[in-house]
Amino acid sequence: MQTTIAPELANDPRAIAATEVLKKCVHCGFCLATCPTYNLLGDELDSPRGRIYLIKQVVEGHEPTAATRTHLDRCLTCRNCETTCPSGVEYGHLVDLGRSLVEDKVPRSGVDKWLRKGILSVLPYSKRVTPLVKLGQVVKPLLPGALGRAVPASQTVPALPTTQHERHMLVLDGCVQPSMAPATNASAVRVLDALGISLNGAAESGCCGAVHYHLNEQEAAKNFIRRNIDAWWPSVEAGCEAIIVTASGCGVMVKDYGHVLADDAAYADKAARVSALAKDIVEVVGDVLASEDLSRFKETAAAVGKVAFHPPCTLQHGQKLPQVTERLLARLGFNLTPVADAHTCCGSAGTYSIFQPAISQQLKENKVRNLLAGQPDIIATANIGCQLQIQGGSGQTVVHWIELVDRVMTAQV
Ligand code: SF4
Ligand code: SF4
Repeated sequence: MQTTIAPELANDPRAIAATEVLKKCVHCGFCLATCPTYNLLGDELDSPRGRIYLIKQVVEGHEPTAATRTHLDRCLTCRNCETTCPSGVEYGHLVDLGRSLVEDKVPRSGVDKWLRKGILSVLPYSKRVTPLVKLGQVVKPLLPGALGRAVPASQTVPALPTTQHERHMLVLDGCVQPSMAPATNASAVRVLDALGISLNGAAESGCCGAVHYHLNEQEAAKNFIRRNIDAWWPSVEAGCEAIIVTASGCGVMVKDYGHVLADDAAYADKAARVSALAKDIVEVVGDVLASEDLSRFKETAAAVGKVAFHPPCTLQHGQKLPQVTERLLARLGFNLTPVADAHTCCGSAGTYSIFQPAISQQLKENKVRNLLAGQPDIIATANIGCQLQIQGGSGQTVVHWIELVDRVMTAQV
């Protein structure tokens, strides 16, 4: 798609980068078929191709309106369209650039602005989230319907191993997950320990930066990213093999650090190195077990019952790891139920469920219906946002799949 940058944007790196992405789009429209917002709303401007057109217009100097911003806001950044696109259009990067350009021209005001500020001042900080979660758990029985169901029950965190192996990796502690689902990283530590790998956190690391980045506070996001790089760098230099991320939404962000800081002279190389080391937990567990006979786990895995697995968009479309978790769980002997429309977003999408509640609710209902169709005994996923969203919609306990693997490897079924 040929784009002529408007003179006033000729030196704007966002417009230049957007033009590079726009070049690849041949306007075929294949991506419409898998776009959740297009399928729900039926408006081409709520489809990938429609949003691409809107961004092209802004780059070419057309004045965006509040409606332009709304169509971009409604995008889940699920990147399902990237998986479908035959031309390799990097839509995820494009929509971030487009949002930033539009927001300059159509700034937010009122409730929207203050709600964003409120969320940004709490969610990325584990020390602020934890007391709120604890309070929520106390009043959970008094909370109405979906709100009560969305508050995660307090988890029992399994004991951590004390052995240090020669093979060692870092783990992202993150912000929301340690408060809401502390068992996830504990299980990751235990499973990797059983496979001969030590997993260690870095005290000064924290939020991956995704909350700020996707709410268009990209400079603030870069500060979170630099802080994590600084916290991890001594271990990287000491030869740590990988940086493990158990929340796929954070993993896709860490894998993008090199891209985000490409123009930062002081951090570009380090960011690229960190991104190259970043791995979802399934990549490591899958690699280690790739050539092993796993028949010893089959009986305990079968005892878990039927498992419905939801692959987060950030795992299958963002990190391009479709079916990897499902294949691993099946090899371990878990009884996976078939789930219709597994490629589609559950409506969580970071803070999307807060800002676009109606669309998020519809997607949640569809997802929960499809997950429950096979009458599973348990639902598993790979991202804390999806976990809470599906739990809120189904009323069932939803776990990270690594907890199931932990149970099977340590026979706690
Ligand atoms: S499928 Fe790809 S090339 Fe075709 S319209 Fe969508 S983004 Fe453009
Ligand atoms: S990222 Fe998802 S919601 Fe946004 S345009 Fe692509 S498929 Fe549609």
